[in-house]
Amino acid sequence: MGKIAFVVHGGAGVILKKNMTPEREARVRSGLYTALITGYELLKNGGSSLDAVSAAIESLENCLEFNAGRGAVFNHIGQHEMDAAIMSGHDLTTGAVAGISGVRNPIRLARAVMEQTPQVLLAGRGAEALAKDLGLPMEPEAYFHSEHRWQQYLEARDQNQIQLDHADDPEQEKKFGTVGAVALDTFGDLAAGVSTGGMTNKKFGRIGDSPIVGAGLYANNKTCAVSATGDGEFFIRGVVSFDISARMAYLGEDLATATDAVIMKKLGEIGGLGGVIAVDCSGNIALPYNCDGMYRGYMDEDGKAVVKIWEE
Ligand code: ASP
Repeated sequence: MGKIAFVVHGGAGVILKKNMTPEREARVRSGLYTALITGYELLKNGGSSLDAVSAAIESLENCLEFNAGRGAVFNHIGQHEMDAAIMSGHDLTTGAVAGISGVRNPIRLARAVMEQTPQVLLAGRGAEALAKDLGLPMEPEAYFHSEHRWQQYLEARDQNQIQLDHADDPEQEKKFGTVGAVALDTFGDLAAGVSTGGMTNKKFGRIGDSPIVGAGLYANNKTCAVSATGDGEFFIRGVVSFDISARMAYLGEDLATATDAVIMKKLGEIGGLGGVIAVDCSGNIALPYNCDGMYRGYMDEDGKAVVKIWEE
């Protein structure tokens, strides 16, 4: 049996320890752990990397703690617009959805776009119509509503009006709760996936990096699988996920060197904040981030589940 590897993330950013209650920390850790084990068990039983990535992301989408699916943040007009994507490193097939509402599991719809349509990226009403045609579970607005997210939205909206007063405030939380997973299965196939509600208070119609292949995710069996979280606009401008794969392909860099160069150096140089999780075709993993913390989980060399938020 070939080596397997699995990594999940639940977002990165300015995650201040002092603002995290023990209860919330426990819920975040437990959500990450469940997603990690869900995907890893699938891989251990001979499942495909695509199935492991989809299952883990679905579990995170169903958990209110993360900014995806049920826990998706509100945009500027108090609505949810979600993005998701999945990619197979085996044949570079990929599917993505952008700016969708009402779909319980956007990652399932992204996978359906990949496997059941000739398209790669479907947005808005067209994507929602496909979800209904395929009989994917739809949910009313109330399903995606939580008091915590609503308060976050109101605060962000108000801060926007006085943004200059707060722009340099180091205490200000800038948190990204996007979820993602990368996997190497026993057949040597890599896969990457990502799902998000985007950024709190984002402009209506704004699409982030998550559904953009090469920016928010990338997978190629010859190099690596990458799933990103952070300031989407910068990840698009830096073509971050593809850049990591390209450095491995063209410069012969290993995974750690390529992810470090892109996240710890190049992303910061253009002013971007965030991180990636990545796995290469030999099962090496990397989880660099250039901000305070990143919700993340992986299986270590001994097959032990590790869940972390900060350097710990
Ligand atoms: N990258 C996401 C976006 O810009 C946000 C996140 O990672 O939380 O939409």
